[in-house]
Amino acid sequence: GSGKGKKHGGECVKVVVRCRPLASKEIADGRQRIVDMDSQTGQVTVRNPKMDLKEPPKAFTFDQVFDWNSTQEQVYEDAAKPIVISVLEGYNGTVFAYGQTGTGKTHTMEGRDEPADQRGIIPNAFEHIFAEIAQTEGTEFLVRASFLEIYNEEIRDLLAKNPNNKLELKESVETGVYVKDLTSFVVKGVQEIRNVLLVGKKNRTVGATLMNQDSSRSHSIFSITIETSTHIKAGPKDDGPTIRVGKLNLVDLAGSERQGKTGATGDRLKEATNINWSLSALGNVISALVDGKSGHIPYRDSKLTRLLQDSLGGNTKTVMVANLGPADYNFDETVSTLRYANRAK
Ligand code: ADP
Ligand code: MG
Repeated sequence: GSGKGKKHGGECVKVVVRCRPLASKEIADGRQRIVDMDSQTGQVTVRNPKMDLKEPPKAFTFDQVFDWNSTQEQVYEDAAKPIVISVLEGYNGTVFAYGQTGTGKTHTMEGRDEPADQRGIIPNAFEHIFAEIAQTEGTEFLVRASFLEIYNEEIRDLLAKNPNNKLELKESVETGVYVKDLTSFVVKGVQEIRNVLLVGKKNRTVGATLMNQDSSRSHSIFSITIETSTHIKAGPKDDGPTIRVGKLNLVDLAGSERQGKTGATGDRLKEATNINWSLSALGNVISALVDGKSGHIPYRDSKLTRLLQDSLGGNTKTVMVANLGPADYNFDETVSTLRYANRAK
């Protein structure tokens, strides 16, 4: 790696777009696909279904686009794998799934366990990390996993005995920003880390039901910390082992759909305001990083960006997967997601 914070022009931030297929219900309802993608050029076009070809389609270009035929494996290989590799080398990295509820964020991040080709980025990263560890000689690895969610700007530990306790963000000179008292488990293999994911998901569902929430209204972050220790004895002078620590954050963001316009009040309005606020704070941080000119990166504006501060910018890699639905009735949200992603690019 090169010097800290010296990477300008956004070479460490990649924005890709993925569009799911029309769902069978959408086909049955006679819905039209209004999204087109060119995987050669990275162009996405969306036509306004109300304008009957009178308006030219809106066009956007991205680092990479994945259309409705793309596989989980392709998305892993192209979008996530380079980040996992750099985390194994001791750098921090983050994968975000952004988009309206129902567009495939959880499909992209988690997918389904069976058949194996339906597994998303998180289980593929598990396999990849432990396969890499198994074939690396002369290095010791320590892998730890934690899992939390941010709901209404409050942090909840999804692995704690009582997940409804709110945790605090702290900052120290040695460790930077951290979540006080966050549970983390040392994991020795794929099965163990899968169990950690499973326990956290169960806690998330139980907590949401108890507190009458919808999990699409919170951000979830599964983090894997990989510590490596390599001992090379070079001649008579022995400097001891070289220790490297990399952290991988896998983030399933809250649904980006506009809320609150249709008369939401009380708790629902507060949720909506917090989600809009934190997603726009994230957009601001990413676009400031990509821009590279701005000396001030506004990490402190939300819990999400503060928490991920050490993994966004500097010697880190970030990928944002912006998820789209293809159907006509999603026109406004689809354009809004593309605008957000375009700004982050
Ligand atoms: P989100 O997490 O954004 O709310 P989901 O991941 O739950 O959305 O996806 C909504 C539905 O669409 C699910 O039934 C999911 O299996 C399906 N789906 C999403 N993306 C794809 C895809 N690329 N191919 C096939 N089905 C998909
Ligand atoms: Mg989801």
